[in-house]
Amino acid sequence: MSDCLFCKIARGEIPSRKVYEDEEIFAFHDINPVTPVHFLIIPKIHIPSLVEVDPENQGVLGKILALAGRLAREQGLGDGFRSIINTGRIGRQEVYHLHVHILGGPEPLGRMIRN
Ligand code: AMP
Ligand code: ZN
Repeated sequence: MSDCLFCKIARGEIPSRKVYEDEEIFAFHDINPVTPVHFLIIPKIHIPSLVEVDPENQGVLGKILALAGRLAREQGLGDGFRSIINTGRIGRQEVYHLHVHILGGPEPLGRMIRN
């Protein structure tokens, strides 16, 4: 999608701190990290959210999950991390291009959800 922020990042039209790239996937550091290590993994294809996934997206979504542990390890998170996919209004998704947050650091993270 031409005017989508993360599509532009995946195409290199907006600069990012790249973590990984292949034909189908792009990963980059979050601009506003909430943990010492915080990066995002996205499909290059524009999928707005987990609500709008088509059967043909299964491959790339599987690849993202299969890649997450390796990228996390390479970013120093070999002892574990948290992965989050915010979805829609209730999930407080801000950027409507599906992305997996990978979060971690030297210390255990806080509780999963603080209300
Ligand atoms: P979400 O609330 O799950 O949609 O998360 C969107 C994330 O994108 C937030 O953590 C933002 O800090 C991050 N973000 C927004 N703009 C950029 C950007 N230009 N480069 C990197 N991360 C960004
Ligand atoms: Zn997009």
